[in-house]
Amino acid sequence: MSVLVLGGAGYIGSHAVYQLIDKGESVVIVDNLETGQRKAVHPEAHFYEGDVRDIYFLRSVFQKEQIDDVIHFAANSLVGESMKHPLKYFDNNVHGTQVLLQVMIEYGVKNIVFSSTAAVYGEPESVPITEEMPTVPTSTYGETKLIMEKLIKRTDEAHGINYVSLRYFNVAGARETGDIGEDHRPETHLVPIILQTALGQRSHITIFGGDYDTPDGTCIRDYVHVEDLIDAHLLALDYLRHGGKSNVFNLGSNQGFSVKEMIDAARTVTGREIPANIGDRRAGDPSILIAGSSKAKRVLGWKPSRTSVAKIIEDAWKWHSSHPNGYGKGE
Ligand code: UDP
Repeated sequence: MSVLVLGGAGYIGSHAVYQLIDKGESVVIVDNLETGQRKAVHPEAHFYEGDVRDIYFLRSVFQKEQIDDVIHFAANSLVGESMKHPLKYFDNNVHGTQVLLQVMIEYGVKNIVFSSTAAVYGEPESVPITEEMPTVPTSTYGETKLIMEKLIKRTDEAHGINYVSLRYFNVAGARETGDIGEDHRPETHLVPIILQTALGQRSHITIFGGDYDTPDGTCIRDYVHVEDLIDAHLLALDYLRHGGKSNVFNLGSNQGFSVKEMIDAARTVTGREIPANIGDRRAGDPSILIAGSSKAKRVLGWKPSRTSVAKIIEDAWKWHSSHPNGYGKGE
C-alpha cells in the first residue's frame, strides 16, 4: 500500500513526500534527478532513479512495489524555457504522462493527483480566475499541462482512472523546519532570486517588464505557500480514496502581488537592501494571474493557513539563509 510520487526529489514533490511520511503513508519516489535533488529525497521513501518516459523502468517499479495511488509532479515547468525548447516540453511532459497512464492501466492503479498550473488559462478575461474559465495557454509550458490534463481525462473516460487536477498559481516558501526548500539550477523563480539577491549572491534582480497594464507596471501573481499547496494534495488523495469524482481545482490565495510588492515585502522580512532594475518582458508571461480557489475550499475542505506573503518569504528566507548553496554543489 504505497503512494507513488513522480518527481518526489523536486521542490514541490519533496514537500509532498515529507508531508505524506509525516501522515504515516508509505512512499515510493520516481525521479530522474534532471531537475530534482538527491538530497531532497526523504530517507524513509523508496527511491527509484529513472525516467517516467522509460516504460520498462516504470513497469519494474510498479512490479516491485504495491502502488495504490499516484501523485504526478514529474515535468519541466519553466515558461521561458518552454518557449525556446517546445519539443523538450512535449516529450517529457506529454509523452511522460502517456507512458505513466499506460502503466497505471496495466497495473490497475486508479487514482492520480496531477500537478497542473494556472498557465493553462493564459491571459485571463477577468480575475479571479475560476475553473470553468476558458483555457487558452500563452506558453508552451501551459499548453503541455493542458494536454496532460486532457490525456488524463480521456483515459478516465475509457479506463476509469480517477483524477484530481490541481492548477497551481505561484508556489513559494519552504517547509517550516527549514530542512528542505527551493533549489533550481539555474534558478528562475522570483522568490528564490529575490532572496539570493538579499544574500548578496546576485548584484541585483531584474524585473521582467515595467510596462504591464497593472498599477505599478509589473506583473501580478498569486502566491501560495508550498505547505498549504501540499495540504490540498493530501485532501485530494483522501477525496479520491473515498470515491470522489474526477475533478479540477485552482490552488491560490485569491490575492495578487506585483513583482515590486514582492521585492518590498522581502526587504521588510530580511532587512536587506535587494537592488532591483527593470528589464525586458519575459516571453509567455501573462500580466495578471489571480486564483479563485473557493472550489477547493468547498469541495476538498482546503484551509490554507500559511499563505500570506510575509509567512511565505519568512519560511523561504529560513531555508535560503541556512542553505546559501541550496543542497550543495553537484548534488
Ligand atoms: N520575475 C521577474 N524577475 C525574475 C524572475 C521572475 O520579474 O528574475 C517575474 C516573472 O516575470 C513573473 C513573476 O516574477 O511575473 C513570477 O515568476 P516565476 O518565474 O517565479 O513564476 P511563474 O509566474 O513563471 O510561474
